[in-house]
Amino acid sequence: MQNSKNKKIAVFTSGGDAPGMNPAIRAVTRSCIEKKHEVLGFLNGYHGIIKNESLNMNLRSVANIIHRGGTMLKTSRCDEFEKPEGRQKAYDVLKSHDVSCLIGLGGDGTFRGLKTFHEEHQDIQVIGLPCTIDNDYEFSENTIGYFTAQQTAVEAIDKIRDTASSHHRTFVVEVMGRHSPNLAYEVAIGAGAESVVDLSKKGSLDKAVMKVKKSLEKGKLSSLIVALESEKDGSVSSAQCVQEKIAKELKIDCKSVVLGHIQRGGSPLSLDRVLASKMGFEASKHIGQRSGVIVVEHGDVVFRSFDELNEAPNLNKDHSEILEVLSN
Ligand code: ADP
Repeated sequence: MQNSKNKKIAVFTSGGDAPGMNPAIRAVTRSCIEKKHEVLGFLNGYHGIIKNESLNMNLRSVANIIHRGGTMLKTSRCDEFEKPEGRQKAYDVLKSHDVSCLIGLGGDGTFRGLKTFHEEHQDIQVIGLPCTIDNDYEFSENTIGYFTAQQTAVEAIDKIRDTASSHHRTFVVEVMGRHSPNLAYEVAIGAGAESVVDLSKKGSLDKAVMKVKKSLEKGKLSSLIVALESEKDGSVSSAQCVQEKIAKELKIDCKSVVLGHIQRGGSPLSLDRVLASKMGFEASKHIGQRSGVIVVEHGDVVFRSFDELNEAPNLNKDHSEILEVLSN
C-alpha cells in the first residue's frame, strides 16, 4: 500500500502531438521520482489506459528525449473514452495498478476527458499539462509546443517569401489551428504576412482580397496571405480556396501551399523545453492534493484546480489589429 509520500503516478500523452511533450514527460517522471513516487507511463493516449498498455518509468527511461519531437509514449484519439463505459474501463485499469494520480499531456479534448473522468471517479486525482501547437487553452497564456510550431511555420514562410518576391507572386499559406486562429495570427505577424483568412468567418475572404488589391495599388509586388486550416470545404484546402478567389478576382499570379504536419514535428525550441520542464516540475508539487491543470498566468507557471478555473479570466488574445497595422 502507498503512504502519503509514496504514490503511484500515471503519465500519458493524448490527442495531437506537440513538440515539447517529451521534455514534459521527462520533467514529470524525474520530479515525481525525486519525491519518492512511482511513475507508470501509459502508451497511446486514453486508448492505452483502457487496453492496459503501460511501462514502468525510471530516471533513465527519459534520458536523451529532451530534444526530440513527438512523444515517446505515443498518442492517439480514442472515441471509447468519450463514453462512460470506456472511462470505467480506464478507471478499473488504473485502480488495478494502484494509481492515485493521472497526469495527462494534451490539448483541450484531452482536458475535457480528464475533467469528465475526475467528475465520475473522484478517488483518482487528475492533473493536465496543456500541450498543443494551437495555443488555444483559454486559461493559459502559453501551451507546450506552440513556440516551436510558430517558429517552424515562420521559417517555412520565409522561404516561400523568397520565391514570392523573386516572381512578383502572391502566396497563400495554410497554417494549422482548426478551431483557433492564435497560431495563424502570430505566424502571420512573425512572417510579415498581409492578412489571415478564416473561411468560417463571414467576410474574411473578401477582406483579404481587398487587402491584396490595395497592396498592389500601393506598389507592393508580392503578398503573403495566411489561411487558417478549416474543415469547411471538404477536399479543397483553405489555401486553395483563397488562392482561386484571389487569382480570379484580381487576375494575378497566385499560388497556394499547405504547411500541414511539418508544423507539428521537429526538435522543440528551448522555450518549449523550459516551459515543459517548469510545468512538469510544478505538477509534481501538487500530487496528493486537488485535481486541476498547470497553466501560465502573467508569466508564472501555476497550478489551478478545476474549481478555480470557473473564476479564471479568459487569456485568449486578439492579434488582428497588430497584423492590420503592421502589414500596411
Ligand atoms: P487534443 O487533446 O489535442 O485537443 P482531441 O480533441 O482529439 O485532441 O482529444 C483527445 C482525446 O480526448 C479524444 O480522442 C478523447 O479520447 C478524449 N476526449 C475529448 N473530448 C472528450 C470528452 N468530452 N469526454 C471524454 N473524453 C474526451
